[in-house]
Amino acid sequence: MTKDLFIYNSLTRNKELFQPIQSPHVGLYVCGPTVYSNVHLGNCRTFMFFDVVFRYLTHLGYKVRYVRNITDVGHITSQFDEGVDRIGEQARLEQLEPMEIVQKYTDDFRSVMRVFNNHSPSIEPTATGHMIEQMEMIKKILDQGFAYEVNGSIYFDVQAYRKQYPYGELSGRNVEELYENTRTLDGQDEKRFFADFALWKKASPEHIMRWPSPWGEGFPGWHLECSAMSTKYLGDQFDIHGGGMDLKFPHHESEIAQNTACCGKGPVRYWMHSNMLTVNGQKMSKSLGNSFLPHELFAGSHPLLEKGYTPQVVRFFMMQAHYRSTLDFSNDALNAAERSYERMMGAYSALADCKASASSTADTAALEQRCYAAMGDDFNTPVLVAELFEAVRMINGCKNGQLDLTADNLLQLKRIMEVFLIEVLGVQPMEEAASTELPDLMMDAVFEVRKTLKEKKDYATADLLRDVFAKRNIGIKDTKEGGEWSYEKK
Ligand code: AMP
Ligand code: ZN
Repeated sequence: MTKDLFIYNSLTRNKELFQPIQSPHVGLYVCGPTVYSNVHLGNCRTFMFFDVVFRYLTHLGYKVRYVRNITDVGHITSQFDEGVDRIGEQARLEQLEPMEIVQKYTDDFRSVMRVFNNHSPSIEPTATGHMIEQMEMIKKILDQGFAYEVNGSIYFDVQAYRKQYPYGELSGRNVEELYENTRTLDGQDEKRFFADFALWKKASPEHIMRWPSPWGEGFPGWHLECSAMSTKYLGDQFDIHGGGMDLKFPHHESEIAQNTACCGKGPVRYWMHSNMLTVNGQKMSKSLGNSFLPHELFAGSHPLLEKGYTPQVVRFFMMQAHYRSTLDFSNDALNAAERSYERMMGAYSALADCKASASSTADTAALEQRCYAAMGDDFNTPVLVAELFEAVRMINGCKNGQLDLTADNLLQLKRIMEVFLIEVLGVQPMEEAASTELPDLMMDAVFEVRKTLKEKKDYATADLLRDVFAKRNIGIKDTKEGGEWSYEKK
């Protein structure tokens, strides 16, 4: 079975055979969310895709260290260093401490990631937790002569850098073009060159988020945290760096420049960028006002939705587009995904009822190979889903007595579904996803304890247990089989 993996490298604009720097270890860094608002479905698309990358690399046997940061300082509202800090601004609007904002939206982010069945990354570092590393990196960049200080702020010196290294390779933007976009902006006068960007900004008296530094009180530039944290956890050079397409410039371009200036070499072997989730052809984004929150989609409460969809249907919908293509969000597309998901899951559970025949003409080995080929071709999930529907066709054929499958065929189909649908795409059967089992399991334990208490005639404690649940609007009743429980509306 060939399991070669080719990855489209955004830096070289080629599909390249994936070869880790230190196999079997793989370092994967993905830019995480800025936790100043609820995560929207567009963000979810990007994180769900990189979850599949993490899952597939792990399936291939690599030991993956997946680092996905939490941006909790430094991401400002303008690309060119003159905006306000998004978290500080939200803290002002909600009249909370910045760290309360960070906590609130980090909790939201994590619960949404869980609902979509994404694995947790290996490390989830925060920018504010890595101030020392960021300052150390600034010092190194200053020492190398690629940054300068003006009035308590430190800027990256793009002109000095360009004398030694190429700048703009990833985004394909040239500095002259950039000039057209920035020259009209105010507040550029501290910089020697319009394309220079902040590594450290002096905090104005009203700026809430501030740290002491060798250059006075201030805060780090947004791009710096990812350079500092990726270097700390994955080394000067690591395998894969991912993020949404919109982060190529200025964020990733600046990361490359910072790391190269600091360590003398480009940090990343394979740059991967996922494309945008769109609504009527327009990027879903909070600032455009067309963003959907996950729970609005589950509940069907958004005015643009006809009904609700489960997280697993949404995940399946996301998998049906290639990550480098845009994916448009519509009722029709979601309805189609829902039908496909049900068909797929129906076949997955029907596998258990399939009876083996002595001989067969079905070639399940070739099908398994095609599944690897699809994922090996730059994580081509839509082709993989099409192959999985071939498996569905075989399973349904067998169930209906129209196709003979041997015991080996059935084993292979089971493996294909388990590996590619459940493990790699991370799509769960509906019942499992609803995680109804966990509360039921716990309540079973409660009923067991109540039974013992009653046997010991300790009715007071048995009643206490019932009352404790009643206070939380959960009614419990003992039955012969054990017990029943339900949420009770008051
Ligand atoms: P942010 O919190 O704005 O830094 O975004 C977190 C991640 O979501 C980044 O990788 C963005 O590129 C990505 N992202 C933002 N909007 C979309 C969208 N409409 N579709 C897909 N990814 C997005
Ligand atoms: Zn980043």
